[in-house]
Amino acid sequence: MLLPRPPSAPPSFHVMAKPTGAVCNLDCQYCFYLSRKSLYPGSRFRMGEDVLEAYVRQVIEGQSTPVVTIAWQGGEPTLMGLAFFRRAMALVERYRRPGQRIEHTIQTNGTLLTDEWAAFLAAQDVLVGISLDGPRALHDAYRVDKRGGPTFDKVIRGLDHLRRHSVRYNILCTVHAANVAHPSDVYRFLRDDCSASFIQFIPIVEHLPTPEDPEATSDRSVDPSQWGCFLVEVFDEWLAHDVGSVFVQTFEAALASWMGLPASLCVFAETCGNAVALEHNGDVYSCDHFVTPEHLLGNIRTTHLVELVASERQRRFGQAKRDTLPRYCLDCDVLFACWGECPKNRFVSTPDGEGGLNYLCEGYKAFFHHVDAPMRLMAGLLHSGRPAAEVTTALAKAPRNARRLRGVGHTDRAGHGR
Ligand code: SF4
Ligand code: SF4
Repeated sequence: MLLPRPPSAPPSFHVMAKPTGAVCNLDCQYCFYLSRKSLYPGSRFRMGEDVLEAYVRQVIEGQSTPVVTIAWQGGEPTLMGLAFFRRAMALVERYRRPGQRIEHTIQTNGTLLTDEWAAFLAAQDVLVGISLDGPRALHDAYRVDKRGGPTFDKVIRGLDHLRRHSVRYNILCTVHAANVAHPSDVYRFLRDDCSASFIQFIPIVEHLPTPEDPEATSDRSVDPSQWGCFLVEVFDEWLAHDVGSVFVQTFEAALASWMGLPASLCVFAETCGNAVALEHNGDVYSCDHFVTPEHLLGNIRTTHLVELVASERQRRFGQAKRDTLPRYCLDCDVLFACWGECPKNRFVSTPDGEGGLNYLCEGYKAFFHHVDAPMRLMAGLLHSGRPAAEVTTALAKAPRNARRLRGVGHTDRAGHGR
């Protein structure tokens, strides 16, 4: 059925569905979501049949694009068991419109995956995101179980199940105080030992303001300048060996910006608001990072998902990403690629004292300046119908230019403004 869509509804949107709410079998020390349990005192944290049915139906009805993504996240979604996901797949078949393609994704810590799970995920062609923070010691620094014990072996066992069944997977690697100083070790481990061809790096920023220091962060948080160094070192390794064969989400997003295309990642978009979070009981929040009573949009048992996404409140939430940028960002030469990153990280002051600057600014600025010349080169190749991977040959053939191309410190804003 084609739903009459509100005029303000985006053609497509993303829903992060959390069938177990914040419940997880692990106790990762930096997890921002575990504390969300307190929003639902006394709950069993299991998505019921009514919410499951409403979610699948509405997410399919609410989008006008030929491809719709159904995404599961947590907490730990595999705690729902296989029977829940088999029912979800049956509902998808019931509501899928002719010609419509449904992409299934699940983000998991991987520790509960079995042979049976892997066979199911392979048969349904589910794209699996595995959370893994690098080699054993770096991963186990913060990704621990309920008793504080290591989890690395369990994750690798889960990954092995996926590989045996040829399940499509990518790696989500959080970058924090324990692994930020080891960019090459982390990247090579994910690329070589885990055979990952799609990698997401997510910086850990835990804002813990005090009356004395309103900009304070936890000891686990990534240092802004080190975050920039991490991205730069991984980028150089990727540029030398892996363009076209390994997809690093941050680099792909940057390339889209240099090509003048719409941002492929909400954090680097001018505005956001098209990615909502769905709790186990049907409550919908403005974003995964804003699951708070002030950002509760409504419940899908009483209001259609597309109306919540299109609501005036949610549109304002998304536009605030652009409208609250400090002057320092508006004057920045890499604004077109950064857009002040995610509002959740905007809690420091600019050099002239204006609030609302992103905590990671220093790192992003250094990274975007560093990649400017190779990004221009890749964008030029792609615009002329050639593969971006030719950038590696071009750099190898022009050793005298290579240093200049790799290590520039200046970006001409007018050269590639949006
Ligand atoms: S608040 Fe941040 S994570 Fe959420 S949609 Fe906006 S940019 Fe993305
Ligand atoms: S690099 Fe810094 S100043 Fe520039 S847009 Fe990003 S956060 Fe703002």
